[in-house]
Amino acid sequence: MTASGERRILVATRSAHKLRELRELLGLSRTALVSLDELGLAGDPVEDGATFEANALIKVRFWAARTRLPVLADDSGLEVEALRWGPGVRTRRYAGEVATDAQNNAKLLDELAGLPPQRRAARYVCVLAFLASATAEPLVRRGTFVGRIAPAARGSGGFGYDPIFEPASEPPGGRTVGQMTAVEKNAVSHRAVAARAMGQALRELGY
Ligand code: IMP
Repeated sequence: MTASGERRILVATRSAHKLRELRELLGLSRTALVSLDELGLAGDPVEDGATFEANALIKVRFWAARTRLPVLADDSGLEVEALRWGPGVRTRRYAGEVATDAQNNAKLLDELAGLPPQRRAARYVCVLAFLASATAEPLVRRGTFVGRIAPAARGSGGFGYDPIFEPASEPPGGRTVGQMTAVEKNAVSHRAVAARAMGQALRELGY
């Protein structure tokens, strides 16, 4: 709690974009969400879990032990059916340790080259984990955003794989997430679904 009595949750992210998005989607009116950088916290855990859940839990446990604050963390990525639901936890590093979004997209398009729309099924996944204290039971919420990988990149909105991800609500060849507005994406995205569910659980706990 702060001196003014306001509750705080540490959001274990270094992304200002994610922090802003979570503040909006969680809808907590009594609790301040603060980031690692706002608290001047350096150093990060090794995210070597085999699942999104495992990685989100690694992050909340690491920061809860160090700060004694309630902690929220997310882990997200892309699962592609034709890649046996990979790259999963390796999504950010799909084309290499320091791959750019463009390199990751190019590699995935190459990998799926020639496959028809029905064999290009994919889904974004977001897992949010919350730990009230280092000894508490964690809360975990998951959201998915189902679609398919387009045959080529279109649009420059969003980030990551958005220019090559067509939501299932679009016909094959329809708009990619890169061609949608942030408002459209945030109404249905994996992160929005997980964050709304987590927001409800946290409000029920009094946050
Ligand atoms: P992390 O959760 O920051 O580790 O991100 C995992 C990776 O998944 C990102 O670097 C992106 O490549 C991808 N990803 C996760 N969510 C999205 C999204 O909403 N749009 C596009 N790419 C995403």
